[in-house]
Amino acid sequence: MWIPVIDVLICKGCGDCAQACPDNAITVVDKKAAIDYNGCTCCGVCNNICRVGALAIKTLEMPPILNEGVQLTTLKNEVKQLKQDLKEMRKDMRRLR
Ligand code: SF4
Ligand code: SF4
Repeated sequence: MWIPVIDVLICKGCGDCAQACPDNAITVVDKKAAIDYNGCTCCGVCNNICRVGALAIKTLEMPPILNEGVQLTTLKNEVKQLKQDLKEMRKDMRRLR
């Protein structure tokens, strides 16, 4: 996943990116562009528009925990099964007493 990011130290506030954004997700306040990530659809239109290099596309790293979702589900099922087995063993032990 990627998102557009503005370097406010470089931004000159020209507004080119705000004009180009089809979702009106960029506004210029006090000569600095700001992205409303609630409105940004990551369409990529603003990429390469900035003439001073203040706007760039950054790739977000997925937290490892999300990449391991399948393994976590498997682990969860194994724990569930172990709990069930333990319950059955306790029942058997009670019967034997
Ligand atoms: S195009 Fe670049 S300099 Fe102009 S407002 Fe956008 S980020 Fe700032
Ligand atoms: S990626 Fe698209 S929606 Fe998001 S700020 Fe840039 S032009 Fe606007």
